[in-house]
Amino acid sequence: MIYSKHNIFSGITGSDNFFIVNLLTGSADILNPEEGKMLRDFLGGNEIEEEFRNNLTEQGYLVDEKEEERLYRSKYLDFVDAREEDEVQLFFVPNYSCNFACTYCYQDEYSATKQELSHEVIDAFFNYINLEFAGRKKYLTIFGGEPLLNSPRQKELIAYLLKHAKESNLEVCIVTNGFSLIDYIDILKNIRIREIQVTLDGIGALHDARRFLKGGGATFDRIVKGVDACLQNNLPVNLRMVVDKENIAGLPEMAQFAIDRGWTKSDFFKTQLGRNYELHHCQGTSEKLFSRISLYETIYRQVKQHPHILEFYKPAYSISKFLAENGSLPDPLYDACPACKTEWAFDYTGKIFSCTATVGKSDESLGTFFPEVTRNEELIDSWESRDVNNIPECKTCSLQLACGGGCGSVAKNRTGSICSTDCRPVKELLELGFSAYFEQDH
Ligand code: SF4
Ligand code: SF4
Repeated sequence: MIYSKHNIFSGITGSDNFFIVNLLTGSADILNPEEGKMLRDFLGGNEIEEEFRNNLTEQGYLVDEKEEERLYRSKYLDFVDAREEDEVQLFFVPNYSCNFACTYCYQDEYSATKQELSHEVIDAFFNYINLEFAGRKKYLTIFGGEPLLNSPRQKELIAYLLKHAKESNLEVCIVTNGFSLIDYIDILKNIRIREIQVTLDGIGALHDARRFLKGGGATFDRIVKGVDACLQNNLPVNLRMVVDKENIAGLPEMAQFAIDRGWTKSDFFKTQLGRNYELHHCQGTSEKLFSRISLYETIYRQVKQHPHILEFYKPAYSISKFLAENGSLPDPLYDACPACKTEWAFDYTGKIFSCTATVGKSDESLGTFFPEVTRNEELIDSWESRDVNNIPECKTCSLQLACGGGCGSVAKNRTGSICSTDCRPVKELLELGFSAYFEQDH
């Protein structure tokens, strides 16, 4: 029996206890200080009590190597099968233009084309997806730029897009800055809306200093009205707060605002935190950006001081929240990047891309659906083949089944290769997560 290469073992933040999890066998345990010490001794090559050794074997932390390989392969096949059955998320970008000039927008360097969205392009898009993804569960996400611009022409085009979605029996998500949401409620009411993602970066001036109109102008109050109107009309809202060191201090207030407004009580309201990071180009002031772990450390401290944040947002800390809420671990994650597997993106110029991270970058285009269908099969293959078995460093990494190799686009921007790593600080996140969700005195 050997120590499983998929064990993740460490101390719990602010506690003398330890945790050990194994996503392959599905085991998770908290070890008291004596047990933690014994396991450390064992890893250091020392003998341990037989009873403790038996417990480790029973729980699947000490394994037969061949058995483990068999289990790994069989769960990998299950993962691939399940993904084949999974829903595909199809993004459509009607325009890259925007009425906002957010301080951190990664699309600000995308060059505008003279081309405009037309009925012909929308028809070609639906022809393509209904053929290419026939028989697969799928849904549509409208993304920008800003898709909900308040002009008669844009409203007509969005209504035409939504009519097609309805005819194709697709649920629709919309990613919007929220400024003109209120003007679109009547159009959206008649569609199967799965979610409207709206961004607020804090309350009042804090938000307005980051997300303002082109040419200047506050946006907070109108967005709030749009969110209110959505919830009143049972349109699900996913409120996103993009955070960095400049606005994270506003999280407790943001949470209180959502609570006071009754949003957090609504079944149609959920939230997410987006970490502001450099995707395609340098933001100049990268000192203001959080690393993934420093963001979660900050949130961990904030929640201790302001527990009401949890009514608004519950941090995942890798798989910790899932474990706390479900009482079991999620299935092993052999691949965290859905690009070209369960996610594709398309834009109004007729181009096909792997996902939202690459959409609009012409050198990342994988082909076209308009004016004719073309596909760069070699590039598509490299996206499709990305998983932890195809990335050399991941193959031997004990975190692989929680991390899944991270984001292919971040990896490619870093190394030039899609099949390279975007490491997640899984162990450090679990140290915080076990503390936040499992330690009684926290
Ligand atoms: S490349 Fe990154 S952003 Fe795109 S689907 Fe993969 S994980 Fe998501
Ligand atoms: S991306 Fe890094 S942390 Fe994630 S599985 Fe691969 S080597 Fe491990």
